[in-house]
Amino acid sequence: MKNYNLGDVLHQTSFYTNKALGQNFISDTNLLTAIVTDAGIENEDTVVEIGTGAGTLTGIIADKAKKVYSFEVDRNLEKVLNITLSGYENIEVIFKDVLRMKDEAVTEIIGDGHFKLLGNLPYYITTPLLLRFIDSNFNVDSITIMVQEEVARRIVAKEGTEDYSSITLAVAMWGDATITRKVSRNMFFPSPNVDSAVVTIKRNDSKIKGYERKKINRLVRASFAMRRKTLANNLSAAYQISKEEAIARIEKAGFDKNIRGEKLSLDDYLRLSEEF
Ligand code: SAM
Repeated sequence: MKNYNLGDVLHQTSFYTNKALGQNFISDTNLLTAIVTDAGIENEDTVVEIGTGAGTLTGIIADKAKKVYSFEVDRNLEKVLNITLSGYENIEVIFKDVLRMKDEAVTEIIGDGHFKLLGNLPYYITTPLLLRFIDSNFNVDSITIMVQEEVARRIVAKEGTEDYSSITLAVAMWGDATITRKVSRNMFFPSPNVDSAVVTIKRNDSKIKGYERKKINRLVRASFAMRRKTLANNLSAAYQISKEEAIARIEKAGFDKNIRGEKLSLDDYLRLSEEF
């Protein structure tokens, strides 16, 4: 762990945080260490970090892991990182937007081995970033992300609750998600106007074993298309079948004709997919 004062480094390098890029940095060593512990990082691990920022988390990951590939879009941070990450030989910072890269381009950099994904994410990329990795063929073993508390609640929501949504199911198909820690807005510099939480998702390939991910994804997205509509209405629109036909298929799968998408668990969706 390197010893520096983040405020001093930002001042010394004349770096000003960019709100539009979600630059809310963490410098509390105890919190950063706890996030790395939540992620279960061990010394043989390769870690891919999204959003290097000032490198505060990156350095602590690198103290534990074998190798860290850290993606950052803002080149202005290079002067900061030259100070905060100097001397680390197991860190590679890549100044690219991972959301705009093809899988092959990412693999060219990080290789095709297994890795753990970690990041204190800019809030506006949470969902696309999650989908970018869970809908891919990368060998991601676990995902540990700091997100807005509200989004964290959506990720781990139970069926039938207001927070339950298509992102809940997209994640549930991929693995087992838990909120490992809540983090006050005061822990960030500058402080955002919402609190955050760390979510850890452990890959579990048995969740949809035997089912086609693409097909389930389509069914879930269709079922949540219009939240106030019944499942039958949503599915009749998405699959271009009559409402009667949609009801017949829903009932054949064992559900009430008036049921709404948010009442169905992942296992229910797997059962329903036999009819769609
Ligand atoms: N990891 C640091 C920390 O914990 O203090 C920084 C976290 S800050 C919330 C998020 C960082 O992600 C910012 O430095 C921002 O520039 C960067 N960022 C924004 N969009 C990005 C993208 N598409 N890909 C990679 N990094 C991005």
